Amino acid sequence: MDFSNSSEDARFREEVSTFFKQFTGDGGSLPTREREQTLGRAMAERGLVGVRLVDGALEPTLDKLQALIVAEEAVRWGVDLNFITGNMFVAKTLAVVGTEDQKLTILPRIARGEVRVALGYTEPDTGSDIAAARTTAIRDGDEWRINGQKMFTSGAAVSDYIWLLTRTSPDKPKWAGLTMFILPTDTPGITVQPLETIDGEREATMTFYDDVRVPDSARVGEVDGGAAVLRLAMDFEHGGGAVPGRSLVGTAHEAWRSAVEQARNVLGADGRPLLDDPMVRERLVTLAIRNDVSALLELWSISTGGSSGPSGAVGSLAKLHSRETQQLVFETILDIFGDAAGLPPGVEGGLADGEFEVGFRRSMVATISGGSSEIQRNIIAERLLGLPRMGRK
Ligand SMILES: Cc1cc2nc3c(=O)[nH]c(=O)nc-3n(C[C@H](O)[C@H](O)[C@H](O)COP(=O)(O)OP(=O)(O)OC[C@H]3O[C@@H](n4cnc5c(N)ncnc54)[C@H](O)[C@@H]3O)c2cc1C
Repeated sequence: MDFSNSSEDARFREEVSTFFKQFTGDGGSLPTREREQTLGRAMAERGLVGVRLVDGALEPTLDKLQALIVAEEAVRWGVDLNFITGNMFVAKTLAVVGTEDQKLTILPRIARGEVRVALGYTEPDTGSDIAAARTTAIRDGDEWRINGQKMFTSGAAVSDYIWLLTRTSPDKPKWAGLTMFILPTDTPGITVQPLETIDGEREATMTFYDDVRVPDSARVGEVDGGAAVLRLAMDFEHGGGAVPGRSLVGTAHEAWRSAVEQARNVLGADGRPLLDDPMVRERLVTLAIRNDVSALLELWSISTGGSSGPSGAVGSLAKLHSRETQQLVFETILDIFGDAAGLPPGVEGGLADGEFEVGFRRSMVATISGGSSEIQRNIIAERLLGLPRMGRK
């Protein structure tokens, strides 16, 4: 089996790289909202978001390897594609279970890269246990009244819609009483509060729903059928389609490259470049091998498709290995280069202008968002290794 890119893929990578490079130059100084809209539109025009609408139906524009190439090149040029990923699996879910009205009004705007959809699953007391959501939606004539709170609603402050998981039947078993909605973020009663995460980002938010009234047309899927909608969306999120996701390896790989460059110039206690030190070389080689394993697991994961069934556990394996490796890469870099690598951006004497310090903090977030490492281990244990479920004989 040949794992190298074909010449066609290499050409595609070159094109994508040029695109992101130009965009980084033009878009870097724009405020988040405008930058995302400009990027979203430009990517959609070139088919780089992974889908396009043809006669009302979504058609793929990328194959799985191309989607991975887009994600990797985005990391290389420091372009954040998180919002595209969220948008695309909402679009794909709407294309399957959305109403005709949602397909006519919301879907085209997502496909054109014009709007952003924030994901409202996690609540203050329910993160990993997603189906325990307590935000209620109560029927009131032709409308629904929504009350509750969500945590870590990424990008809600700059989004147009919220994809919202609610509880419609508190008396039913937890998976059976959920209903999904998609509603505009400017609906009266919604408040968004920024939330600073350890990486210094204020992208995650808390969102509050205080007697929010929405028409029944905002409902996605059946009443109490939210679990099926959620599973479909998660299938798309965890690799069930060729859209540029979060590159699992890109950040760790770029950090490794940068560390090797630094090690050529930074001198050790013996006055020689750190790269000449056999211990440093050995640690860098170990990281490179782990990154390669992550890359192979990612390829395996995208080749197996969706997250349901045993193949979904491969996605968990790839996520677990790559995110834990990402943390190890930054921990090791901080250890090799010492204090200078631990200084934040803008501080005199810092190495690579704080790049490694920021990366270290981000690497901690990366093992939580999108499902924590412990949850990935549970999935691998149960689905891939066939071990008994937690708490059951
Ligand atoms: C930067 C960032 C962005 C995010 N963006 C979004 C978003 O846009 N939309 C959204 O809805 N959510 C978002 N999240 C939430 C994210 O999905 C949750 O943080 C994650 O699922 C963990 O949930 P929790 O924080 O409630 O932790 P908890 O579920 O309370 O877990 C706490 C600890 O217990 C462990 N644990 C929990 N259950 C088990 C178990 N069964 N077995 C073993 N260990 C367990 C966890 O691994 C963790 O270490 C984001 C989070 C972050 C950090």
